[in-house]
Amino acid sequence: MNERETLRVNERGHLEIGGADCVELAKQFGTPLYVFDEAHIRTMMRVFRDTLEEEYDGNGLVLYASKAFSCKAIYRIAAQEGIGVDVVSGGELYTALCADFPAARICMHGNNKLPAELAEALENGVGRIVIDSFLEADRLEEEAARRGVVQTVLIRINPGVEAHTHAYVQTATPDSKFGFSIYDGSAEEITRAVLSKPHLRLVGYHCHIGSQIFEKQSFVLAVQKNLAFLAEMKKKLGFEARELNLGGGFGVWYTDADPKLRPADYRGYLSALIAAVKKGCAELGLNLPFLMLEPGRSIVGEAGITLYTVGAIKEIRGLRKYVAVDGGMFDDPRYCLYQSKYTAILANRADEAPTERVSVAGKCCESGDLIGVDMNLPSARAGDLLAVFTTGAYNYSMASNYNRNLIPPAVLVKEGKADYIVAPQSYEDLVRNDVLPKSLR
Ligand SMILES: *Cc1c(COP(=O)(O)O)cnc(C)c1O
Repeated sequence: MNERETLRVNERGHLEIGGADCVELAKQFGTPLYVFDEAHIRTMMRVFRDTLEEEYDGNGLVLYASKAFSCKAIYRIAAQEGIGVDVVSGGELYTALCADFPAARICMHGNNKLPAELAEALENGVGRIVIDSFLEADRLEEEAARRGVVQTVLIRINPGVEAHTHAYVQTATPDSKFGFSIYDGSAEEITRAVLSKPHLRLVGYHCHIGSQIFEKQSFVLAVQKNLAFLAEMKKKLGFEARELNLGGGFGVWYTDADPKLRPADYRGYLSALIAAVKKGCAELGLNLPFLMLEPGRSIVGEAGITLYTVGAIKEIRGLRKYVAVDGGMFDDPRYCLYQSKYTAILANRADEAPTERVSVAGKCCESGDLIGVDMNLPSARAGDLLAVFTTGAYNYSMASNYNRNLIPPAVLVKEGKADYIVAPQSYEDLVRNDVLPKSLR
């Protein structure tokens, strides 16, 4: 199996996460169950935070991209670690504020923020808003003026670098719903527009080049494109950006097709990025900007696993074996969305080597409802406990009540002890917002 600091196999042959025996967790909390290792989350937050501190004189801020996993507990942990957070909706903002997250360290994103969401951000004193359209700049100016406040903003630019897991492509005419292109004049145009608005204080730019990236060179290239644009705006408009937000996208291990980075290895990505910023600024005669990074997946991805109980097993002779579990696309839609790959083991027989290749199916009425195809497992039996690794990011946050299945609860493990951070749903929760109008009563 793939052993990481977070996970180990104990003397009973059971998988342990953060010192808690998964078989015991399943007994105590039931399945399906999301399990998070608090130590891993904090370690990852600290790696990013401390690297900025040590290699960039602390002239920056790490923002946890909370769309990866959003609940009160994660905002509380981020607050305790002294980092900031990204939110992309009124709902994420509300959740952060419910956890008493300091609004000044919140950055709001989104390609179509609603007027109500902009108002909520201003109402609560959100530190930074990243502008992503002309409409939004107008709406935000109007709302800030109405409230008599000046809002700090950045502009989302598209540097024409699009990164993929192990490669990157550079496109001169980027086709994306996000950001203003630096190649077609629109980034300059929005800069002029925002600078002319008295209730918006433009401090700099933001970009986010993709997700699940392992290629350091993609980040370096994005830095170079960004800095060249900053220099151009300084020369043309006399506007020198003081802040630069380089987004997130650092990759994590899902299967052995991915590099397995230890937490400390992420320092290398930041070092490369910081070095590129320093070099570029020196060459272009720019002051070093306040630097922001927005890791999401890399903070929570490998910190989380999902536990399922194996049920029906169907063998189609000569073709395929399906191992069905008590979860599925309602707790993890990533296979359906992206054909994402995972690694799984039987947590109650974690010391056994895989002996067969199976598809792990969910329980939803949808043929595509799979956790994965061609997963290597020991021969599974009904009642076995299946652990799927690296489900901490974009699983709970993308979960649904499809087929009126209950979204599983989440527990946080600290020094071997687990507590709920997301309580179980009940059938009552499912019908809470259902209404029978008079005509149907
Ligand atoms: C999704 C997103 C992130 C986080 O990306 P990860 O791949 O999870 O690190 C950061 N910034 C923005 C603007 C995003 O949309």
